Order: sequence, then structure tokens, then C-alpha cells
Amino acid sequence: MKRDYYEVLGVTRTASQEEIKKAYRKLAFKYHPDRNPGDKTAEEKFKEAAEAYEVLRDPEKRRIYDLYGHGGLKSSGYQGFRSYHDIFSSFSDIFEEFFGFGFGGSGRRQRSSSQPGNDLLYRLTISFEEAVLGTEKELEIQTFVMCEHCGGKGAAPGTYEVTCPQCNGTGQLFQSHGFIRVGTTCGRCNGAGVILQNPCHQCNGTGRVETTKKVKVKIPAGVETGTRLRLRGEGEWGYRGGTPGDLYVQLNVEPHEIFERDGNTLFVKVPVHFVEAILGGEIEVPTLEGIEKIRLEPGTQPGSVVRIPGKGAPSLRTGIRGDLVVEIDVQLPGKISERQKELLKEFMEIEKSRSEKKTRWSWWKKRHKEKDQKEGKKSAFAF
Ligand SMILES: [Zn+2]
Ligand SMILES: [Zn+2]
Repeated sequence: MKRDYYEVLGVTRTASQEEIKKAYRKLAFKYHPDRNPGDKTAEEKFKEAAEAYEVLRDPEKRRIYDLYGHGGLKSSGYQGFRSYHDIFSSFSDIFEEFFGFGFGGSGRRQRSSSQPGNDLLYRLTISFEEAVLGTEKELEIQTFVMCEHCGGKGAAPGTYEVTCPQCNGTGQLFQSHGFIRVGTTCGRCNGAGVILQNPCHQCNGTGRVETTKKVKVKIPAGVETGTRLRLRGEGEWGYRGGTPGDLYVQLNVEPHEIFERDGNTLFVKVPVHFVEAILGGEIEVPTLEGIEKIRLEPGTQPGSVVRIPGKGAPSLRTGIRGDLVVEIDVQLPGKISERQKELLKEFMEIEKSRSEKKTRWSWWKKRHKEKDQKEGKKSAFAF
């Protein structure tokens, strides 16, 4: 059971934004993972507070929560946080204040030379079936990962970044030209104000090493060419412990031999012998999951369609599957035997007498027949 967000933060339902922020800051500090290493209860409380804060600080989310509670938020698409990384990057303003007080995840430093890692783009080609039905893939990507030796900070274990002695932590070197002071970026620390006391020898102080890593990607059913999936934090590891980048997987879907797709609708053309089309009956239709049998009405016309609900592609948002539209492709035989010819002629005889009055353009034929007769010509019309 989820606790009430106001109760989590210990504020009243009419609390102002300032009160909410203050309450959260207090809890985030108290349950910060760096102050409670390995403490599961603190971890839960830390996450619970972050979620409560994320909802209550956002007027729209707060309104939905006030009206409909946790269930309402969930159905509005709110998912909460998945990792510490999510929390830290969402409320960086608050956590940066901690750094200022010296409580931050990186210990005793005031400034940091860390830089965020780059996002990566991976182009992945998947089959038509995989796009419609969903799949899981393992990608191999060349990227920077955390240096295990120094925990990604770039400093040799047990050492820290220290204030740059060149610039005294300002990151700038100043020169006076009379009354004007000109600042240039400190070359020793590249403007960070800090340098590594003792760089990690495994990664040369970068906190990361280049390697090929495997990443599992769950590809949801219903993706299309151009769909981009975002894997948070799976991009390049940050420089000296900076926030890792994201990995974007851009999909390309291969065409299918027999199926076509437009949004959630799938199309397939099924050859049907003309006698079958006339007589009707059961025919076999390919679906992405296998062969399915459908009933064909007697007298089915070429190009007519039969819809099979629920055998199309699912919507990415709702998961509801569209239809499979089966187009009946009436096939005429090429060469036929003498016996078949006889039967067809007989069939035509019956058809002639039967369809004489029914043809849509019989009035036109009649007029021309009469004209031909009047002029004594042999009629061009067989019937
Ligand atoms: Zn290292
Ligand atoms: Zn410096």
C-alpha cells in the first residue's frame, strides 16, 4: 500500500511549494544513500520522499493526485523513479545544495571536474514480426564504462580531488593590466578549480574505460521504423563520475514478404481460386501467429476484403491490437484441359440465359443489337 504523499513529506494538504521543498530537502538529507550505506529502510524512505516531492511540486500532478489519488496518477501515465540516478538528475538543484554543504555523494569537495557522459545512438534493424510482436535484443556497443578500480571517480582509491594550487580553486588565473583584471581559464585544472591528488592509474584519472559492453533492450510490441527507445544511463559513463549519458536505440523495421502494415492495421493478399470464390467455403489465411481459417461467402468478388479483428499490430500506447485485413485475390487458371473447357462452356450456356436480363449494361447491348440488325450487320455481341 502506498502512503499518502502529504503524510510522507509531513506537510498539510494546503502546503505551499516552499514548504513542500523544505520538507523534502530535510528528508532527502536524512535518508541520503551516502549517509545510510546499505540501509534498505533508508533507501525506501529516500525513494518514497523523492516520489512524493516530484508529484506535489508539479501543480498538474498534484491536482490529479488530490482528485484521484495514486490510482489517478498511475492511469495518467506517471511512473515514478526507477533509480537513484533518476532522482539525482531530476532534483539536481536540491542535491547541488548538499554539495555546497559538503554532504554530497562525492564527499568533501566543493567543486568538481566531472562532466556528463555523451548520449549514444544505436541503429537497430529488426524483423517485421519482432516489431509487431515485441522482442528482446542484446546490443554490443563500444562505449565508456565506469572504471572499477576507482569507482568511476578518477581518483586513486582513498584519495580525493583537491583544490587546484595554481588558481586556488577559482578555475581562473587573473592578470592585472592597470585597473583591468583579465581572467583566463586555469590550465592546470581546466577551469574546474580542483585537481586529482592522485589519479587512478587504470583510467588515467578519467574515471572511465573504453570497452565493448552488452546491453539488453526490451523492444515493446508495436514499434515502427523510426521509433526511438531511450535507455536512461546506458550511454557513455561520465568523466570523473559525471552523470552517464543515455542510449537511444533507433529502430528500422524490415519489410515482410507477405504482410504490409499501416499503423495498427496489417494487410495480406490471399490467392483464392475463382471457383472457390464463387462457391464460398473455408480458406486458410496466414497471420503473424500462424495459419487461421476463415469462412468465405459464396459469390466473393475479386478485391473484396475480410477483416480479422485483433490480428493486427498493437498500439504502443494501449497495447490494443488492430485488424488484419485479408484481401481476396481471385485467381484464374491459365491452361485448362479439354474436359474443363467443356464444363466451362456448359457453365457459360447456363450463365447466358441466366444473366441476359441482369447485366448492368444489357440496355446498351440491346440498343446496339437492334441497330446492327437494322443495318443488316452480324451482331458483334455473342449474347
Ligand atoms: Zn580509474
Ligand atoms: Zn586551477
